[in-house]
Order: sequence, then C-alpha cells, then structure tokens
Amino acid sequence: MTATTDLAIEPPPDGQGKLAEPEQARRKTPIPETVPYSSPGVHRTAVAIFTGVPMLALVTAIPIAWIWGFLDWQTVVVGIVFYLFSGLGIAMGFHRYFTHGSYKANRAFKILLGIAGTMAIEGPILNWVSDHRKHHKYSDKDGDPHSPWRFGTDLKALTKGLIWAHMGWLFERNQTSHQKYSPDWLADKDITLVNRLFPYLVAASLLAPALIVGLWTMSWRGALIALLWAGLVRVSFLHHVTWSINSICHTFGKREFDARDKSRNVAWLAVLSFGESWHNLHHADPTCARHGVFKGQIDIAARCIWAAEKFGWVRNVRWPEEARLNGKKVGEIRALGGMTKRNVADSIGS
Ligand SMILES: [Zn+2]
Ligand SMILES: [Zn+2]
Repeated sequence: MTATTDLAIEPPPDGQGKLAEPEQARRKTPIPETVPYSSPGVHRTAVAIFTGVPMLALVTAIPIAWIWGFLDWQTVVVGIVFYLFSGLGIAMGFHRYFTHGSYKANRAFKILLGIAGTMAIEGPILNWVSDHRKHHKYSDKDGDPHSPWRFGTDLKALTKGLIWAHMGWLFERNQTSHQKYSPDWLADKDITLVNRLFPYLVAASLLAPALIVGLWTMSWRGALIALLWAGLVRVSFLHHVTWSINSICHTFGKREFDARDKSRNVAWLAVLSFGESWHNLHHADPTCARHGVFKGQIDIAARCIWAAEKFGWVRNVRWPEEARLNGKKVGEIRALGGMTKRNVADSIGS
C-alpha cells in the first residue's frame, strides 16, 4: 500500500481549538480537487512557450552549432552545474522533501531547495507539489493528472496515453487545488514567496548561465552559446527526463515491488534523473528518502540527502527499512544497499 492517501491533507485547524463559525461552515463544503485557471488561454500559451522554446533549442542545437561553433568548455561546466542544481532541486527538493516529506530541512536549506527546483522551470512549486500529491492519491486511476493508461490498454490508446503522460497533461484547463493538496506549504511564508518569485527565477535560470559564461570568456558569443546550451537545452533536457518518470516509468521497466499502480523501475534513466526512475519502489514506499534501494541501483539524490544529513542541514530522514521493504518485494530475492535501516529496532532507535 502507498502511504500517500494521507497526503490529501485538509488545512490544519487554526490552533485555538474551536473554529470560528464561518470557518466551520467552510469546512462542511468539501474543497474541490481542481480549480479552473483564471485565464486558461494565457496558461496554455505560457506552457507552450516554456516547454516549446527550450525544446526547439534542443532539436536545433546541433545545426546551430555548425554555424556558431561548438561549446566552450566554460559552457559545458556551467551547463552541468545548472543541470545538477535544478535537477537535484526537483529530485531532492520538490519531490522527496516538499511533496513527500522524506526528511526535515532547516530553513535556509528549505529555501535553497525551493529556489533550485523552481529553476528547473517545471511550474511554480505549489503547482508541482499539488499535482504530484494528486498523482499518488489516484495513481493510474481516474483522477491521476498524468497516467499513460488514461485512454486504455491497447497499442493506440497507450501511445496516446504516453504522449498525454509525458506532456499533454500540462495543457489542462484546471489546476490541482493548492488549498486541498498543499495546505502545509500554503501556510509557509517562505514557500509562498518562492512560489510568487517563479517568473524571476525562470529568468535567472535562463540568463544566469549566459551572464556567467559571458563574463568568464569576456565575449558575447560565449554568452549566446551559454544561453542556448546551459540555459535552453539544459532546461529542455531536464524537462524530458522528469516527464519520462511520468510516462516511461509507468509503462516500461521492472516491477520489483508491490504497488497498487503500474509504476516501474527503469535503470537507464537512473543517473540522468538522480535516482527518480526507481519509480516502482517509490510508489511502493512513497515517503522513503531513497528510491534505488538495491545494491547497484544508483540514486544520486539519496546520496546528496545523506551528505546533507551529515552536514546537519536535514534531519529525520526516512531511510529504507529492510523489514518493511522485504514484505513488498516481488520476484527474486535481492539484497538492499547501504543507507538502509537494517531492522525495526534500528528504526525505532534513530
Ligand atoms: Zn512521488
Ligand atoms: Zn508515479
């Protein structure tokens, strides 16, 4: 069973015991799952621009390189640093921390994770977290925002479903309700500020690489090449890696754990996704901080959480518990890797 049904949290009481009467009345009306975007046309145009322009850069980067010349090594360095920063912001931050609460972070690290994830340009933090909590609540059933099984199981339906799960769902007219799915973060002023700063962080994510490489090489050409590769191409590449978790990792790959959905573990995406593609384990044990739990299953985000724990930036990390996972394993018996609570006594003692 997944533990995420409890993630659709109703807003907590305001702390004083008895609720005010209008509040009582409001609680009697269920909070809707979704709310329409105030301007669906504007939303769709923005999604088209923020996914389409980087994708255009991705597919034209090589031909453009014939004309402008290939990458400077400075652009490669800055591109990799921004990929790590924004990708870990999604894997460690938006996903394992903000959505699932796999660990607790201190305030500075929480804000850093929020900024890093926003710079992946996958939507404002409250949208991302709310959509993903709804995905777990209904995974591969009616109500899942991005199941590839939405249209059926035959080849034609599944092909359509894969396109929907990969990026079609981003153009939906309704937004998953923040009030219903993210009341915890709605009550956090730091995070609502990060949410509001989305447009500025988008600009920073695209322009900062150009500025850094432009100053580093003291050339406009260097700045433009960095804007293309370390800005747009990097963002689009990371988009497709994240979206592949929704499409590929719910369709193809190994099923190593019992989960109530069609999630799969996909080894070839593990390094690029920082360990997010061990998605079958994630659905079997959603609050677990480590997704690649078997020996040899590379999980860079888990290793970074481990390092952050050593530095004292995060605490109460929910490392995999051998006793719990043993009951969920299917197929051949495989040994769990390190960073694992070996038995129940360990987990109680920590
Ligand atoms: Zn998740
Ligand atoms: Zn999933």
